[in-house]
Amino acid sequence: RKRLDSRSGGAGLLGDIQTPILGDPLDALYHLTGELGRGKFAVVKRCVEKATGKVFAAKFLKKRRRGRDCRVEVIHEIAVLELARNNPRVVNLHSVYETDHDIVLLLEYAAGGEIFDHCASEEPLPEVQITRLIRQTLEGVHLLHQSGVVHLDLKPQNILLTSLTPLGDIKIVDFGLARRLGTTGELREILGTPEYVAPEILNYEPITTATDLWSVGVIAYMLVTGESPFAGDDKQETFLNVSQVNVDYSCEAFSRVSELAVDFIRKLLLKTPEDRPSAADCMTHPWLWQQFTGPEVTPSTPRTPCERSSGGKWAAPPED
Ligand code: ADP
Ligand code: MG
Repeated sequence: RKRLDSRSGGAGLLGDIQTPILGDPLDALYHLTGELGRGKFAVVKRCVEKATGKVFAAKFLKKRRRGRDCRVEVIHEIAVLELARNNPRVVNLHSVYETDHDIVLLLEYAAGGEIFDHCASEEPLPEVQITRLIRQTLEGVHLLHQSGVVHLDLKPQNILLTSLTPLGDIKIVDFGLARRLGTTGELREILGTPEYVAPEILNYEPITTATDLWSVGVIAYMLVTGESPFAGDDKQETFLNVSQVNVDYSCEAFSRVSELAVDFIRKLLLKTPEDRPSAADCMTHPWLWQQFTGPEVTPSTPRTPCERSSGGKWAAPPED
């Protein structure tokens, strides 16, 4: 039996996994066919099973990081993926291999790339698609929270799509910072990307499920506007923007989206975690169930970026 709350090293990490760690040489069984992404300690490669032709994403996680043995962190990531096994919005873990330097997670392949590509792109997604993706994200987050897991690193780079054309379903990835609720005692060392983290993380306050809902607000903001709500010119400015909840809704990009979208985002980007709705609460927000009529709701004009002035505020809209 799995001990859910077993700890490793007192950092609230899960230590027990059921997936066997295979020692077979990976390249005997799989063709590695190019890089899908990379982070600080991981490289993700596209990977084709020779026997079946089936495509996977192989996440190579370094066992040693900054000269320290980080095997427990990797085991923890596997344990969290196991906890989320029945969550259809979380990428499925197929198998695990160990090489000299890495532990390799063979994950269900999400062929549609990151939703980040639709935040940074000049061509925004139609609002009807944005609300569908946000609903799916909330569903995934709700199920995670129900199983006692907080993700803590939700951002557009960690929400993938099963296909691009037609636009598929979302898959949540990257459980490196995820924690089992109640084991978050020593979250001081954990910090996601400043742009996407909630004020309570910056203030070393207790982490709850509400922390993930902040991130959903940031993601919704980015899908709708193409801009990161708190990004400053440097880390310092970003931290300040987050902790002061310095976010502007008068940005030109909002002129083309429904007021319900603004209302949804406003309810999530609140400094006090207790004031934010739960994932289940969010699911009842009218924005997500808005009926979009007309033949095509894609805005005809590509979006124009909203510039921040040096003061960290949005630039004044042009006078007309
Ligand atoms: P890190 O912890 O380094 O951020 P991630 O798990 O987020 O690692 O993976 C890094 C990137 O690799 C992702 O942002 C995504 O672009 C790509 N990636 C990760 N998992 C998959 C997958 N299952 N299918 C397709 N691409 C993936
Ligand atoms: Mg990531």
